[in-house]
Amino acid sequence: MSRVYNFSAGPAMLPETVMRRAAEEMLDWHGTGMSVMEMSHRGKAYVSIAEKAEADLRELLQIPSNYHVLFLQGGATGQFAAVPMNLLRGGQRADYVYTGSWSKKAIAEAKKYADVHVAASGEPDLMHVPAPSEWQLSDDAAYVHYTPNETISGVEFHWIPEVGDKPLVADMSSTLLSRPIDVSRYGLIYAGAQKNIGPAGVTLVIVRDDLIGEALPQTPNVWDYKQQADADSMLNTPATYPLYVAGLVFEWLKGLGGLEAMAEINERKARKLYDAIDASAFYSNPVDPQCRSWMNVPFVLADSSLDATFLEEAEAAGLTTLKGHRSVGGMRASIYNAMPEEGVDRLVEFMADFEKRYG
Ligand code: PMP
Repeated sequence: MSRVYNFSAGPAMLPETVMRRAAEEMLDWHGTGMSVMEMSHRGKAYVSIAEKAEADLRELLQIPSNYHVLFLQGGATGQFAAVPMNLLRGGQRADYVYTGSWSKKAIAEAKKYADVHVAASGEPDLMHVPAPSEWQLSDDAAYVHYTPNETISGVEFHWIPEVGDKPLVADMSSTLLSRPIDVSRYGLIYAGAQKNIGPAGVTLVIVRDDLIGEALPQTPNVWDYKQQADADSMLNTPATYPLYVAGLVFEWLKGLGGLEAMAEINERKARKLYDAIDASAFYSNPVDPQCRSWMNVPFVLADSSLDATFLEEAEAAGLTTLKGHRSVGGMRASIYNAMPEEGVDRLVEFMADFEKRYG
């Protein structure tokens, strides 16, 4: 068996130890004689898996007790709609911060339900995050939404916006669990799983108690946070297997020393890659150095006619899925928690060698 270093933006690498454990437990989970995939979600065995996953996540993120943790489906894209449906709470207006492709999608979806006001924007370059002094928040906004890490452009907030008494809502799909965060600063956090959490199929929502219970009447039951909270995220059949694997990922993170330890590793991995890019005239990254993502590192070659050769040779060296998003081209190395530091080292070596031969 030979595993590659997979730099995919998501679904992305999972820790090898997690997958070995899932493989060991595949046919017979803890003497039950069945796979987690075959279990009733209401049975004792599965309920214990779901409860442990939630408890471990709460511990990792230090989630205060006045927050609900929901494990839903429909991805972060589903949450683009669920957030306004649940959080307008009789209001009309919602403030959104525009910093790239994913916030753009969140804004477009929210417009179906809310009077969206773009309170701050990273335009024209979308290579930086707008400074706090530029934000124009509405007095009557029901909440303020932003995207702490734009997965495609690799633009990340390294600070938490101050929005007064408005609930701050964050699409943390590509940054959650990369470092400790102060959950109490947020009204709601959501994330699709397939980057740092686990396999695709489960969507995490962390929401403050007082914000739920006033969903728009047309809200689908499965996306009504109050209904899901009351049903322990089991209003309907949940994504049982993805949540089980996510639970194994949470255990793995705890074993490594939690999110502080992860942050140290992630910062170092990102620094190695950006340092290599900045030290070379052959590679470049266009993002404002203050706002560079720890998780998604896009870069371009000085001569784009070499892109295909770069990708081919990288693939042959066991470094895969480095092609940038189709909307921006170039390369992108996604280096989530499960990407070993050695993978980044190998990429840096490969890049230097490629530059020597073609630069
Ligand atoms: N938001 C961000 C920041 C993302 O990176 C993604 C997926 N790449 C999405 C939303 C959409 O997520 P999903 O495919 O889970 O709906």
